[in-house]
Amino acid sequence: MTDPIIALDAVRREFAAGDTTVVALDDLSLSIQPGEMVAIIGSSGSGKSTLLNILGCLDRPTSGAYRVAGKNVSELDADALAALRREHFGFIFQRYHLLGDLTAAENVEIPAIYAGMKARERRTRADRLLARLGVNERSGHRPNQLSGGQQQRVSIARALINGAEVILADEPTGALDRRSGDEVLRILAELHHEGRTIIIVTHDSDVAARAERIIELRDGKIVSDRRTGPTDTSGSPERSARASWDSGLSWSGALRRLREAAQMALVSMAAHRLRAFLTMLGIIIGIAAVSSVVALGNASQRKVLSDISSLGTNTIEVFPGKDFGDARAGKIKTLVLDDARALGRQSFIAGVTPTVSTSTTVRYRGTESNVLVNGVGESYFQVKGAKLAKGRLFDTDAVRNIERQVVIDDNTRKTFFADDQTAGIGRVIWLGKVPCRIVGVIAQQQGGFGSNQNLSVYLPYTTVQAQFTGDRALRSVLLRISDEISTTLAQDAVTTLLTQRHNTKDFVILNTDDIRRTITSTTQTLAFLVAAIAVISLVVGGIGVMNIMLVSVSERISEIGVRMAVGARRGDILQQFLVEATLISSIAGIAGILVAILLGAAINLAMPGFQVTYSSFSIGAAFLTSTGIGVAFGYFPARRAAFLDPVVALTRD
Ligand code: ADP
Ligand code: MG
Repeated sequence: MTDPIIALDAVRREFAAGDTTVVALDDLSLSIQPGEMVAIIGSSGSGKSTLLNILGCLDRPTSGAYRVAGKNVSELDADALAALRREHFGFIFQRYHLLGDLTAAENVEIPAIYAGMKARERRTRADRLLARLGVNERSGHRPNQLSGGQQQRVSIARALINGAEVILADEPTGALDRRSGDEVLRILAELHHEGRTIIIVTHDSDVAARAERIIELRDGKIVSDRRTGPTDTSGSPERSARASWDSGLSWSGALRRLREAAQMALVSMAAHRLRAFLTMLGIIIGIAAVSSVVALGNASQRKVLSDISSLGTNTIEVFPGKDFGDARAGKIKTLVLDDARALGRQSFIAGVTPTVSTSTTVRYRGTESNVLVNGVGESYFQVKGAKLAKGRLFDTDAVRNIERQVVIDDNTRKTFFADDQTAGIGRVIWLGKVPCRIVGVIAQQQGGFGSNQNLSVYLPYTTVQAQFTGDRALRSVLLRISDEISTTLAQDAVTTLLTQRHNTKDFVILNTDDIRRTITSTTQTLAFLVAAIAVISLVVGGIGVMNIMLVSVSERISEIGVRMAVGARRGDILQQFLVEATLISSIAGIAGILVAILLGAAINLAMPGFQVTYSSFSIGAAFLTSTGIGVAFGYFPARRAAFLDPVVALTRD
């Protein structure tokens, strides 16, 4: 006699049932030779299924030794057991246990996927097996489109695809009508003739009669073990049918399994489209909101900074007052023309423009309005980046000669000369009681701080002092710094000089670099806040993914059981769910990015002068973040699936 392929020695299996323990197998010893066809019979609850689960390495004995082809199973880890199930055993279940989302052929291929078989070889094997079992015309159908007999034949094909030496069948005809049942038994007998070892659990004595050996169980013990005929050893165990799998541990095998996992994830997402979409929604909104807010923030920062740049980088402006917003600044009259002249004599000052201002009324042909009168030097416009729309600006002579020339802004033009071809050039308007001739119109400045509805006009500061304010106090002194001097140094020098002249520091200095720094740091604070909100919203999205994946796992427990029974490793199950979670969240991430880009385009259309752009860096970051969420939040549910007990998972309905 050859060595037994299966040898049980005093195998005991106990289950905890409440406070008591149920002994399902009671120190059972048994050995089965290769090529035997064995029926295990016994009344319900006698331990048949428990025995079969242990034989198939789905379950482990509580005590005792089980050897498969000489290997002690209790010394094997979970993955080695999975390998045994995959490569030595083929399971046939009473209820077929096909996966409903897959076609017949795809169901047959599952064990081969876990064995790392190449797709083409898998497909031809599946086709050949389905043809042999007479269901090849049905290979593209899903289980619910097949009869019970057909489903059972598909499940036999699945058991055979890796060339199983031992077929384990638990009540294979239990759910079938007589004819289909006979057909299944005929197939099993044929497989037996090829040299395979067949072990059938049944409570049907007619079914048992087909076997050459009948083992009867009662209360977890063997009560009889008889041979009804000689062992048919005509066939030798068919090695040729075995697959040429790699162990599945090679790179190409692992890559193939990853691809299959992605495909499975797509199948399962397609089967639950609405759910997948709702899961994605949280992440879509999160990613879209965060990317748009960040892009908007960048765009407005760019805009403000470019507005400031139009003021010129190397200018500073000196105002009277102890501090910005000093309420008594208007009463401080110490900043005077002599200060401006003194500053103008400094080597580091390239240009000086004193400014004065007052408000009065402007009148033209019966129309009257309030106006801000700015007295400025001739270089003021250039320093402030104001653009001439029509006419000309006044020059040095006009300032020196205290001429009543006025440059009006666009609001003033619109108020008085909206319908006038000349835009008011050459006309005389009355500022209070002073008639002035309009020489130019400056264009409206885009955005920035100054764009409001107030009217402003600009005259030589000498004229404003002589005609309106009557005193020598200035509103401010605008200074252009030589290029070779840093603004900070210049600012310090100006401070020292003016403090000396005034004996006190009764002025403040506005430096565009300071404003720029303030704005940059404000946007940085904002960006930090946005990032915080982003993290929160993405965590919420991630929890959504985790939630749905947990539901998905518990819904698919029996699928997980089937996959484990046909040889999926823990890693395969983990990978499948992790890939699904990652795929969901990265697809959601892409959708979120697209939404954000569309939003940005809409904003660009609606607000000219505003440029929302997405850098490839931020797109990449958004994508990686969403993918990371899938991995992080999918891991726990996936792990939970991977560590399910195969028997518990299989018997869950
Ligand atoms: P059979 O397949 O012969 O009907 P089983 O092997 O399913 O019998 O069960 C044998 C005994 O073990 C029964 O008493 C059953 O209640 C018990 N049993 C089986 N599985 C479990 C389990 N997971 N937990 C508790 N008891 C179990
Ligand atoms: Mg049973």
